[in-house]
Amino acid sequence: MYLPFSKHLHIVTSFFNIYFRKLAPRGELPAMDLEREDATFGLRTLQDLGWKDLLDGFTCTECGRCQEACPAWATGKPLNPKTFIMGVRDMAHEAEAGVPLIPNGAAVRETYGLDDGIRPDLLAKPIVDTAIPYDAVWDCVTCGACVEACPVLIEHVDKIVGLRRNLVLEESRFPQELTAAMRGMEAAGNPWGLPRSTRTDWTRGLPFEVPTVAELATAGRLDEIEVLYWVGCAAAFDERNRKVARAFATCLDAAGVRFAILGQEESCTGDPARRMGNDYVYQILASGNVETLNRYGMGERTIVTACPHCFNVIGNEYGQLGGAFEIVHHSVYLDRLLSSGRLRLAADGVPARSVTYHDPCYLTRYNGIQAEPRDALASAPGVALVEMDRHGRNTFCCGAGGGRMWMEETRGTRINHERTREALSTGADTVAVACPYCMIMLKDGLADAGRGPGTDDPVSIADIAELLAESAVPAKRRLPVLQQG
Ligand code: SF4
Ligand code: SF4
Repeated sequence: MYLPFSKHLHIVTSFFNIYFRKLAPRGELPAMDLEREDATFGLRTLQDLGWKDLLDGFTCTECGRCQEACPAWATGKPLNPKTFIMGVRDMAHEAEAGVPLIPNGAAVRETYGLDDGIRPDLLAKPIVDTAIPYDAVWDCVTCGACVEACPVLIEHVDKIVGLRRNLVLEESRFPQELTAAMRGMEAAGNPWGLPRSTRTDWTRGLPFEVPTVAELATAGRLDEIEVLYWVGCAAAFDERNRKVARAFATCLDAAGVRFAILGQEESCTGDPARRMGNDYVYQILASGNVETLNRYGMGERTIVTACPHCFNVIGNEYGQLGGAFEIVHHSVYLDRLLSSGRLRLAADGVPARSVTYHDPCYLTRYNGIQAEPRDALASAPGVALVEMDRHGRNTFCCGAGGGRMWMEETRGTRINHERTREALSTGADTVAVACPYCMIMLKDGLADAGRGPGTDDPVSIADIAELLAESAVPAKRRLPVLQQG
């Protein structure tokens, strides 16, 4: 009798919360129907929350594991996932809104003339600035560390993005730095707002052709494509990441993989817009990409990408818009090429390195990929791996997820500085990454720490593809050796 009225209520609710946990992939945000005329976009008040969101609140054990894992909280920002969930619960208690936990509770009460004692004024109170401060909503890097740490499987990220959706789509209230990124995605198909015509500039000077799917289709050679390389905006437009694209293409070419790119027909996947809360822009971009990929029959081919964000959104979220694609992260694809013997590496002249690998949240935590990048790295000549304290599913975000790449980090200390400090503490001379955002954030972190290229005691940063490309043996050069053997 005591339990339902005490702080121990979670003992009862935990079973139900775990049984009714989210079964969709963790990286899939809830779908949004933008066409519904009566739609309220995103989450504003308790009435916009589903029964499972309220059950989450009543299930929190207040253990603080999410708070401990949160990179925003760890770097002194106002976001605290624990107090957010407790805040939702307190609001529900205050408004006596626990009753909606019963499916069709309102109808049941009406039928039986029950007095529910609900306070409509409190039900209409905004969640933002009651359960969570406005700034904290934007501090979240959507890294998923809170969800991973929670023993009763509470979903924090879907709710935070739900609040962003309401702020962006209903109230136009969001950090002003995001305006340029949103406009860039809408007008130019990339968050940097750079011209589409420069999307394939990274291929210039490569000693082999990188055909576009359109060129092959015109020549009636679509069937030749073994894999589609989804380049992603960061690798197409960011100078440092262009080198990664070139290295990955070099590995594919060396392994004799017949690959093509979409070139100017590729647009931003919409991931940054979606995580910023702008599902309208996301759906425009994503629908366009789904249409392009389907037009070329890419549902029957393998897509490979070096960006975990593109990987997650195409693989886990495009299904909501009618796209069913098999997508593989480049670290996994490279590992397969190495295991099958298609990609071979030569040790001559490659220096010995001590390498620490930074797991990207959207690859490891959201999609469970942690062995293949390490196996691929371990195959590289001269590489000795050393782990950071927080690695694998316990990785610590680089600070760029959830659209934070395009926001100023004005509160607390910088997340990329914290992660860089951890990487440097391993004593490794190379930080290996498998994500273009991580590349940018940790490169800046090394430079800020005075350990980047050009300093007295430099620590280098490299994508897995770059570490393999420097020792990849081109397929053509291998043939005579094979014949002799
Ligand atoms: S997703 Fe990451 S940044 Fe956001 S609340 Fe959870 S742990 Fe904190
Ligand atoms: S980890 Fe889960 S149960 Fe623990 S405080 Fe956070 S939300 Fe509550």
